[in-house]
Amino acid sequence: MRTLLSLLFLVFTLISNAQNSSPAEGPFNQLIIRGATLINGNGAPPIGPVDITVENDKITAIDVVGYPGVPINDDKRPKLKNGGKEINANGMFVLPGFIDMHGHIGGNAQGADWDYVFRLWLAHGVTTVREPSGRGVNYATDLKRKSEKNEIIAPRILAYTGFGQGSKKPISTAEQAREWVRQNAKNGADGIKFFGAEPEIMKAALDENNKLGLRSACHHAQLSVARWNVLHSARAGLTTMEHWYGLPEALFDDRTVQDYPLDYNYQNEQHRFGEAGKLWKQAAAPYSNHWNEVMNELIDLDFTLVPTFNIYEASRDLHRARRAEWHEDYTLPSLWRFYQPSKISHGSYWHFWGTEEEVAWKENFKLWMTFVNEYKNRGGRVTTGSDSGFIFQLYGFAYIREMEMLREAGFHPLEVIRDATINGTEELGIGNETGSK
Ligand SMILES: [Zn+2]
Repeated sequence: MRTLLSLLFLVFTLISNAQNSSPAEGPFNQLIIRGATLINGNGAPPIGPVDITVENDKITAIDVVGYPGVPINDDKRPKLKNGGKEINANGMFVLPGFIDMHGHIGGNAQGADWDYVFRLWLAHGVTTVREPSGRGVNYATDLKRKSEKNEIIAPRILAYTGFGQGSKKPISTAEQAREWVRQNAKNGADGIKFFGAEPEIMKAALDENNKLGLRSACHHAQLSVARWNVLHSARAGLTTMEHWYGLPEALFDDRTVQDYPLDYNYQNEQHRFGEAGKLWKQAAAPYSNHWNEVMNELIDLDFTLVPTFNIYEASRDLHRARRAEWHEDYTLPSLWRFYQPSKISHGSYWHFWGTEEEVAWKENFKLWMTFVNEYKNRGGRVTTGSDSGFIFQLYGFAYIREMEMLREAGFHPLEVIRDATINGTEELGIGNETGSK
């Protein structure tokens, strides 16, 4: 049986918060979580009461021990061994730990340190994080090792290095790309985060990365997307796309570049985010031939979407994102300052943001959500990622908001949980260690 190990973190977090005790309890030779209602993450409906037995950090049994509203017969329950620990989870739900497929571990500009970020993630049930680029491979792999050894309280970390990061020269040939990819694997990274590059370089890097058995992510930045969109990436072996850029471009059927106004400047964040809000409308209409063909090919290529809906929510409703009730208690002052209108801070584009921009974004979301929901319905893999630390979105809280927005896109709550758990483990290749069965 594969383990549901991560769910323990969730329970521990709840318990330690409730009792205000030391969070550094265990591990125990045996642990029994009693009387819980289980949602196992594979799409199955809730079931309970169950007793979950864990030995040597692996789930060894999940026993259904009764019926709702009926006293449980103690004779039929698993017995606690000497030195074991019990948790009464009566009235609680237990589910696999959540996987944040797009989790930046803070940032210097935000003044957010790993300790702050990890606590917020764990308190929201996020027990595995894929770190895309961010603060450099050494920063992420160092924390990853400490987390593995239980030296720090942290989620499981998978480090995806920004392509080219640490290279002394810009990567301008296919061979340089391959060399960088090999070195990245030696450095202990789990994959690569791309932002787009010359087609020959993307092809070489993805090919080499796949040969090494590593995974990859790409934010298809507008600077490269005219020549290399999501479909090019998927054909060349990219495993996940971040956000949504590059997808409308793959769906164009009456143009080849986005309809940029002629005074557009990519360094101007208002231009960048304002015009992005009009982009889905320029793509093929939902359920048209081209729309269907692109979707079906991506699904055939086993390509994974990481939509990160939440990180754009302020674009459709700035007031809601800015006044979220947790900011006062949980948002660091330095992070709050980072969010404020700025020509420099990424995603702080609030100089001329009005109703017109918000309405455009609402329509943008509808078209985007239609694609993502149908992708799931046709068997495509969708996962859950937050990209917190920008645009008024806070670590952990934003992950839950992402789940709500998947629900809004049309996902059943059990589909939302599956995408947040098993689908993530599948994409990351860690399904034998964690997730569910
Ligand atoms: Zn990001």
